[in-house]
Parts: sequence; C-alpha cells; structure tokens
Amino acid sequence: MEIITTTKQMHDWSRSQVAAGKTVGLVPTMGYFHAGHLSLMRMAGELSDRVVVSLFVNPIQFGPGEDLACYPRNLERDQEMAERSGVAVLFVPSTPVMYPEPPETRITVARLGAGLCGGSRPGHFDGVCTVVGKLFNIVSPDLAVFGRKDFQQLAVIRKMTADLNWGVEIVAHPIIRESDGLAMSSRNSYLSGPERSSATCLYRAIVKARELAAAGEGEVARLLAEVEKIITVHDNVRIEYAEIVEATSLEPQLRVGPDSLLALAVRVGVTRLIDNALLLES
Ligand code: AMP
Repeated sequence: MEIITTTKQMHDWSRSQVAAGKTVGLVPTMGYFHAGHLSLMRMAGELSDRVVVSLFVNPIQFGPGEDLACYPRNLERDQEMAERSGVAVLFVPSTPVMYPEPPETRITVARLGAGLCGGSRPGHFDGVCTVVGKLFNIVSPDLAVFGRKDFQQLAVIRKMTADLNWGVEIVAHPIIRESDGLAMSSRNSYLSGPERSSATCLYRAIVKARELAAAGEGEVARLLAEVEKIITVHDNVRIEYAEIVEATSLEPQLRVGPDSLLALAVRVGVTRLIDNALLLES
C-alpha cells in the first residue's frame, strides 16, 4: 500500500491508473478506523480495481466548540488496518495541503443539507461537500463508497454529484453495528463506561419504533413519543433531534409510509452520536 500526502502525487497516481485501464474506488474517511470503515474499503475493492482511502480530519466541517482538536487519531494503526483491507493508496493530506490558502469557496446543497444534522451543525454539510468535491477532483474516482450511518451526508453527496455532473457513482454501505446494536463510530472511543451502556438507547429506540411500525402504528407523533421515552430515561443522554422523515426528500412526515426513516442525534455526555433506520425495511 502506498501512502500519498500531496495532491500532485495523488493526481499523477490516478492518471496512471486510468492509463492502465484500471477503475478507482474512493472511500473518504476521517480515520481512527473501525470495522465499519474496513467494510466500506472491502466493498470498494469488490466494485473497483484499485481502492483509495482518504484520511483527513476536515476542519471546515467542524463548528466552533466541536471536537476538531481532540478528534481521535492513530495513523500507524489505521495504516496497518487499511493495508490488511487491500487498499492500494492511503491518501493522507495535511491541512495546508488541502487548504494552502483559507478557502472562500463552499458547495451548498441547500434543501437536503438544511434540516436534521444541518440544523444542529450549521455549515457542516457545506464543509463536507466542499472537501468531498475536492477529493473527487484530486482522485478522479469512478465510484465512491459512503456509509448509511451518515444517511443525510449520503443524500447530500448524491445530490451534489448529480447537480454538478461529477460522473462519480455513489455507493451506499449498510450500517455496521457492535454486538449490542450501537452503530460503530470513531466517536464511541470518547464514551465512559456508563455512557457506553446508555448509548445503546439509540438502537433500542430504533428496534422499538420498527416493531411498532411493523405492527401497524402509523402515527409519527406516537412513534416519536415511544422513542423519546426510551432515550430520556438516561440522565446522561439528551436528544438533539428525533425525527421521522421521507428517506429521499428528508421531509418530515406525519404518517409512516414505505420510505419512512427514523433519524436520531443525541448527546451522550458531551459525545454526539447519530443513528437511523428505515421503519418498514424487511
Ligand atoms: P468517518 O471517518 O466517520 O467520516 O466515516 C467515513 C465513512 O465511513 C463515512 O461514509 C461513514 O458514513 C462511514 N461509516 C462510519 N461509521 C460507519 C458504520 N458504523 N457503518 C457504516 N458506515 C460507517
């Protein structure tokens, strides 16, 4: 596996792959890999000849007071894990490489990026779209794999890619969970023992909502009341949002439909965790 740190080298490598007739799959990440990341890498490997994983903690997608400075990092371990997952290139640009000058340009996906995480983290998706757009230009991938755990990010990137004719196929990967249902996340490493126990409330709330929906409960307000009941019993958990939206438009719904998605963002202590699931998926 090659480690590439400059945009020029990355660009040249991608051109050499195109010249050799090879397809390139990109997996954008912020590092501190877990089994979810590795599964995205393997999926990219099944769908393309060469896999590039980018590892960049993107400052412009963090708001003031968020965890940019303390975001977990372990490059040596990440390197070993990526290598074992069949990755061809780990692209690790520094912040000055990605932003040699303070960037003035942003990509905004206006409507899809406005609610849910976009509401609680103003400017977050502009930062995500801008860096993903830069990575698409630097790596020129044929496809890019994103996790459904960040389902709004996936929706926003799909729309950006279509709107701007990027010609990159966007592939969605299912959520990878711990054995007790907690969605894997680099941020889970922040949780204390008691917080880790409480954090399962996200998945427990999802399971309950899906059971009720499968049994015929169609009233969104009643489902959300059940979800809130499960989460708010924990003193160390605070709901940032709990919404049921249509999975493509992300518009809030009053009644459950075939594409209803339960989307959750909570604070467990100071750690922000998100999760989501289709309510009626078999
Ligand atoms: P991150 O490093 O957290 O920015 O995540 C990089 C990519 O991995 C994103 O596309 C995430 O949606 C995806 N991802 C992170 N955690 C999971 C998970 N538990 N299951 C599936 N995909 C994930």
